[in-house]
Amino acid sequence: MTILVTGGTGYIGSHTVVQLLEAGHEVLVLDNLCNSKAQVIDRITKIAGKAPGFIEGDVRDRALLKQLFAKHPIETVIHFAGLKSVAECGQKPLLYYDNNVSGSIVLFEEMKNAGVKSIVFSSSATVYGEPVFLPYTEAHPLKPINVYGHSKLMVEQVLQDLALSDRAWKVALLRYFNPVGAHHSGLIGEDPAGIPNNLMPFVAQVAVGKRAKLSVFGDDYDTKDGTGVRDYIHVDDLASGHLAALQYLQKNQGVLTVNLGTGQGTSVFELIHAFEKAANKKIPYEVVARRAGDLPEYYADAVYSKTALDWQAQHGIDRMCVDTWRWQSQNPNGFGQ
Ligand code: NAD
Ligand code: UDP
Repeated sequence: MTILVTGGTGYIGSHTVVQLLEAGHEVLVLDNLCNSKAQVIDRITKIAGKAPGFIEGDVRDRALLKQLFAKHPIETVIHFAGLKSVAECGQKPLLYYDNNVSGSIVLFEEMKNAGVKSIVFSSSATVYGEPVFLPYTEAHPLKPINVYGHSKLMVEQVLQDLALSDRAWKVALLRYFNPVGAHHSGLIGEDPAGIPNNLMPFVAQVAVGKRAKLSVFGDDYDTKDGTGVRDYIHVDDLASGHLAALQYLQKNQGVLTVNLGTGQGTSVFELIHAFEKAANKKIPYEVVARRAGDLPEYYADAVYSKTALDWQAQHGIDRMCVDTWRWQSQNPNGFGQ
């Protein structure tokens, strides 16, 4: 099957492209490289033994999309392209809505024009907002607390309405929890630009000596050890969730909405300890004030993904740390220039 992967040189996209190629699919990557590097394509090729097609371009570029759909026998789209910084989205709402929402609409319009009606969309657990109950099931109320979360929920709604308007559409809305880890080869992994906002890449940069110490954002939450609890999921498990979703879409029409998480909550202190074991070194840290907008804890109910997709995460936090450390120690400067 020929699959268009938007955002395919990014963190989750690159790991998914590897698995798609390994499963024998033809893959076309469309990415504007605003948050990734072209070198990723060489690394993917090295791992998979086969190259994806690569087009440097923007999902908002309608003429380019028209050309792509006309030229290639694309049967389905996996749509990763988007901006994801919770720290930045509040300062740049128009940029986030334009990129994440308008960009998606241009893509869906051109899919419709080309008769391609099958899509897997990268949604996020941020669509739930403050937990009314935990774990979050897919039926949990939807009340995002930031621009990024709103942009994801808007695109979910657009796809729900599209599928209502035309029963031929096949849509998978995948609500990711906290992706971490790296491919076991150490060739691809997360390469954040600037100072990482997220815990795992920050810890990894402390371990490799790029940053002096970690700031732990609060140890007075009502959680198992006072620090924030999240559902970390290995990026390779997340990638395999996309292949499971593609299989589901081959057999089913309409909209599938599913969490991709492990169902396990890990605290900041637990993650630090697991990383210290993986890297065999101490991670210096200091407890500081809570970060504005942080929720104390959230994790997935992972039952429906197992039922609907026959998929469940395989890797625990120790393996996530081992693989992150291999990637970070072998590539202290990420993909470099
Ligand atoms: P990433 O930034 O590594 O990858 C996104 C890719 O999309 C980048 O390569 C970027 O260059 C590209 N891109 C952005 N805007 C584009 C545009 N207009 N046209 C073409 N390419 C564009 O992020 P990621 O962590 O791999 O996330 C992938 C998707 O999953 C995103 O939609 C993100 O919102 C979603 N998601 C991520 C997380 C997470 O914590 N990483 C959690 C939930 C959901
Ligand atoms: N965190 C931290 N220090 C950091 C980054 C994150 O203590 O430098 C904490 C944060 O408060 C949260 C957890 O680690 O409890 C996960 O944060 P991350 O930003 O990775 O994920 P998110 O909060 O977006 O789910």
